[in-house]
Amino acid sequence: MSAGTAPPRVLTVAGSDSGGGAGIQADLKTMLALGTHGMSVVTAVTAQNSLGVQGAWPLPVEAVRAQYRSVVDDIGVQAVKTGMLASAELVDAVADLLSGTRAPVVVDPVGVSKHGDALLAPSALDSVRTRLLPVATVATPNLDEVAQLTGVRVESEQDFRRAAEALLEFGPRWVVIKGGHLAGDMGEAVDLLTDGSQEHWLRAPRYDNRHTHGTGCTLASAIAAHLAQGRPVPAAVTAAKEYVTGAIAAGFALGGGIGPVDHGW
Ligand code: PLP
Repeated sequence: MSAGTAPPRVLTVAGSDSGGGAGIQADLKTMLALGTHGMSVVTAVTAQNSLGVQGAWPLPVEAVRAQYRSVVDDIGVQAVKTGMLASAELVDAVADLLSGTRAPVVVDPVGVSKHGDALLAPSALDSVRTRLLPVATVATPNLDEVAQLTGVRVESEQDFRRAAEALLEFGPRWVVIKGGHLAGDMGEAVDLLTDGSQEHWLRAPRYDNRHTHGTGCTLASAIAAHLAQGRPVPAAVTAAKEYVTGAIAAGFALGGGIGPVDHGW
């Protein structure tokens, strides 16, 4: 058998979900499904299932730095995605590492899980604003994360713009404000992608499926996978939204709580 051609390489810097629905596990499935080689820097280990997070253990900063160096120094990366970073110390360390990369960086500023479990210490919010967002090519907050980071509560189209402006002040090149949690929307999941001059409203059907565990991780990883394949940001985000919409539509029951989105659709 002859050797194959290496696919584009994508790195996730995120937490492990023992239940396989979110975090590193969702990221690697997404990267594989989109034709890329996924690699991982584990920031925290969680004991987790469909009912919630039963325990979380951040890794030492040294372990995170060493994983990153191992991957970057030998294999190289064409896009990076960050997810759960757990503590201010880890946010600072990851921001430092990423300030030295030329690869596009997708920052999912993960705060709290759908079950309400904290995945980031409140004391780390300032580091996310001042250290991590400035190195982001694309930041992908949901509405709760937008409120935490900017104080803007999004309830109307105008609020989306105000929130995006406030986030762009911290320095990411683009933001995707994920409106999926917006109450009362008209059967659509609406997101705003903007860099402050271009504005793209992304609309997808909203599925009445509660099995959406891992949605945010999947979107950010899909954006990174498409960026690694050389797509410009608007095309990468549009294709990623299509991917996550399919994965949500196919989400399935597992355990007694909220099941995962499906990557085999
Ligand atoms: N666990 C880990 C390790 C995560 O990174 C995330 C989200 O980023 C979650 C759990 C939460 O997933 P969800 O809110 O989709 O249930």
